[in-house]
Amino acid sequence: MKRHLFYTFLSIFVVTTIITLLGVIGVLRISQGHLTMLLSAFLVELAGALVALFRRTEFFAEDEHTREIMALKKSYETYMGELEQKYRDLVEQSAQEHSYSPDLSWPGTAIKNADPQVRVCYHCLLIKHVPLPLIWDPDNKRWGCSGCHTQLNKLE
Ligand SMILES: [Zn+2]
Repeated sequence: MKRHLFYTFLSIFVVTTIITLLGVIGVLRISQGHLTMLLSAFLVELAGALVALFRRTEFFAEDEHTREIMALKKSYETYMGELEQKYRDLVEQSAQEHSYSPDLSWPGTAIKNADPQVRVCYHCLLIKHVPLPLIWDPDNKRWGCSGCHTQLNKLE
């Protein structure tokens, strides 16, 4: 429907323009009153077409593209910043999850900071960097390291 309207108005415009211009140069005999009306209509149509053309043309499209690129760059930087922060948080979280503190109430052992129920041999943790769990020796009724077999009795 829009297309039909467009072509209808375009046809009227073209026909009016041809008749008007032929009248102006004297090829067609048109009375002065009608010629003035046709010329006015032509000028109004021409002005309308120019206004419509100017409204549709993006003279500042480049500025808009630059703005879009800058907005994209900014969102990319924000995203990368968030990603970097998440990575740092994960590293710190991982470090905390896998860190141990020596337990002064039970010499030779360390407890996991994230889970105090987990007790390991502090010697093996320091020397071998391996958190080895303590094992209970039921025959001698004492605790020992599962790696270096050091006796680790709790202080009474
Ligand atoms: Zn050990």
